Amino acid sequence: MTNAALPMLVLATLAEAAAVSPGRGIPRTLATERAAGIRAPRYELSFRIPDSKAEVVRGVETVRFELRAARPVVLDFEQKRERIVSVEAGEKAVAFDFVDGHIIVPATATRAGENAIRIEFLAGDESLNRNDEFLYTLFVPARAHYAFPCFDQPSLKARYSFTLDIPAAWQATANGAETGRETANGRAVVRFAETQPLPTYLFSFAAGKFQVETAERNGRTYRMFHRETDAAKVARNRDAIFDLHARALAWLEEYTAIPYPWGKFDFVLIPSFQFGGMEHAGAILYNASGLMLDPSATQSQLLGRASVIAHETAHMWFGDLVTMRWFNDVWMKEVLANFMAAKIVNPSFPEINHELRFLLAHYPSAYEVDRTAGSNPIRQELGNLDEAGSLYGPIIYDKAPIVMRQLEMIAGERGFREGMREYLKKYGFGNATWLDLVSILEARNPGQVAKWSRAWVELRGRPEITTALRMGTEGKIASLRLSQRDPLGRNLVWPQRLQVTVGFPGRIEQFTVPVSGAVTEVEKAKGMPRPLYVIPNGGGLGYGLFKLDAATLRYLVDHLEELPDPLTRGSAWVDVWENLLEARVKPEELLGLAARALPRETDEQNAQRILSYLARTFWHQIPAGQRSVRAPELEALLRGGLAQARTASQKSAWFNAFRDVVLTRDGLEWLERVWRREEKIEGLTFAETDEIDMALNLAVREVPGWQQILAAQRDRTQNPDRKARLEFVLPALSADPAVREQAFAGFRDARNRSHEPWVLESLRYLNHPLREAEARRRVRPALDLLQEIQKTGDIFFPKRWMDATLSSQRSPEAAATVRRFLAAHPELPQRLRWVVLNAADELFRAAKRETTP
Ligand SMILES: [Zn+2]
Repeated sequence: MTNAALPMLVLATLAEAAAVSPGRGIPRTLATERAAGIRAPRYELSFRIPDSKAEVVRGVETVRFELRAARPVVLDFEQKRERIVSVEAGEKAVAFDFVDGHIIVPATATRAGENAIRIEFLAGDESLNRNDEFLYTLFVPARAHYAFPCFDQPSLKARYSFTLDIPAAWQATANGAETGRETANGRAVVRFAETQPLPTYLFSFAAGKFQVETAERNGRTYRMFHRETDAAKVARNRDAIFDLHARALAWLEEYTAIPYPWGKFDFVLIPSFQFGGMEHAGAILYNASGLMLDPSATQSQLLGRASVIAHETAHMWFGDLVTMRWFNDVWMKEVLANFMAAKIVNPSFPEINHELRFLLAHYPSAYEVDRTAGSNPIRQELGNLDEAGSLYGPIIYDKAPIVMRQLEMIAGERGFREGMREYLKKYGFGNATWLDLVSILEARNPGQVAKWSRAWVELRGRPEITTALRMGTEGKIASLRLSQRDPLGRNLVWPQRLQVTVGFPGRIEQFTVPVSGAVTEVEKAKGMPRPLYVIPNGGGLGYGLFKLDAATLRYLVDHLEELPDPLTRGSAWVDVWENLLEARVKPEELLGLAARALPRETDEQNAQRILSYLARTFWHQIPAGQRSVRAPELEALLRGGLAQARTASQKSAWFNAFRDVVLTRDGLEWLERVWRREEKIEGLTFAETDEIDMALNLAVREVPGWQQILAAQRDRTQNPDRKARLEFVLPALSADPAVREQAFAGFRDARNRSHEPWVLESLRYLNHPLREAEARRRVRPALDLLQEIQKTGDIFFPKRWMDATLSSQRSPEAAATVRRFLAAHPELPQRLRWVVLNAADELFRAAKRETTP
């Protein structure tokens, strides 16, 4: 895989032998070889979309490209052979081979210079998202070749001349501007201008019964396609949506010093879209619900909308103009888009503590992976695009943004922008790797970037940082020393900048400390009086396991709530949690601290974080036998918080925490009255999903009459999708263990796993902490299904499946079952092994505590 010359040789030999496969999916070897040999691809592509979605979509294309010499050419098409109607070169039928989803055009059908291969085909529906009244493509990461034969890899950017034949009542948009529309016999043929070079995953079209809103901003026309029937809702949202796009675009043109590269600007609001948005050049797709907001929209929904618009607009440069060479660098475009979005949007929301938001959004979930034996580097190997989904996870979503912020600190805000301009200019309409950006920034900051990138981006894990405070004579600090250690034993050093908070009675000092070696002396602290506490990541910057010194830990357990700054409090809470997992803080201590801190906490983001730590400690950290002892006090605390909370979002955070942990008879009776709508909570209204959650939580606790509660909830549920989901989940709540066992056994059949969120919800109740002992029996069968689940499921499903299986397991027996499985399956792909090690982390820690006296 490292030798690019070898595959070309192999391929040439293979094609002569004919019918030998380049491999299933899109192997990296194939992509590398094609990118080297094929020049300037262009597609003249058209689809005919029938009136009924039961009928097949027909397509025809001419693929043009240049070759230095005649050679076999591999096109990807992941369909049955019957779907290839004809392949011609120079108006002659080609005797092609079709193997493992690849059309292999023999060297004899090609020539040096310009080639044109014409293919008629029946498109697959897999990536066309066909509905009765509309369809849209979603080809990321490599799903274009389900719909049409192509070179489905990001490094062969091509120009597209596109034509769509659709029902006359339909609207359509694609990457290029519409250049013509002819209507006849109830059909319309719509032509689009040739595009700039695009990777296959960004080629896109959407067509159907859409309303089209048009607006002009700063001399540019924007078009919004949508299916919203509520005219008032459209009127209420449209100007804000256009404004947000125009503002983001103007900001990006200024930041990058490159005008918007894609000519026209359309976007489509898709009901129930798979993601928040997808950055198809010149034709962005969005999830409609994220953009069309209700008048009651919260600050965080408004921020979310502005952020997703800025994010997708930033992609027009970061990802679309310069594209990663291979999907192992997909994280880069995501992080840069988020990074830019934060710069664009945050200043418009001054009432939100963005530093704290960044901390709480990213650090805890990055640690969830990075603290485990299943952590992975940000930049991973990727041998085949059909495994691209497995790259995604908290390391990419959460650690990478932290790392990008560090990079800007190294380069400086201005230096970073200049570096970005150079990168976009140098690689515009082409491809680049992470290392290409590193070398631009390294040249601007010699000695600082390449080494940093190796530790943070190319290798896995996090540093373990300890503080050592030595007091001298006269009660002054003689030395304050930070040491880092590589828990994975590689002696790796992670360079980073810390903002160390040192607390004294009535005041705090904060020092910016660059950490570049194994030991760092905090010079500025010398000579100061004995501090109450030292928090090396008090400013929210530091990343790692901060093993706080004993005195600091003691102070925080007793006084954390008194720290004056919300950001320092948030950071300290994250540290306390990490130290609890290291068995350096007792679960009872955390419960006590939370009980004191919650009523005093002024920042809603911190309060929500504490509530989640509280619930996790209650279910997973204290011994099961302790729960009923702790419950009355805990419920009183949460009921009290609910009564005091001022905003609806605070109230719902308190209420949900109560609903999740309630165990006492009084508490359950109160919850049941709320569910029966006999008890009202001032300022809090419940949606159908809230009532379903209440009913399920009552049922899993087997309150008297729980069967009737479930039956009543089923009757009460109006929305057909939610009703179907509830019916699917009900067997998991049966009082009959045999029915529960059957519910689980059903998941062996892939057809019963097609609604993955439903399966996960079932598992959460089947494996509820109250049923830990019974659920232990399901650990091995769930592990045995893992590989199959990866084959049939969505990219996040294997991890979620394992989390739902193991999250409530704490026994040495369950830990042994997991270890036996791993030992018995040395052939398990590394990524799946990581998934298991990851999900089992807290189980392993708990089992270790139990077996070490
Ligand atoms: Zn994105």
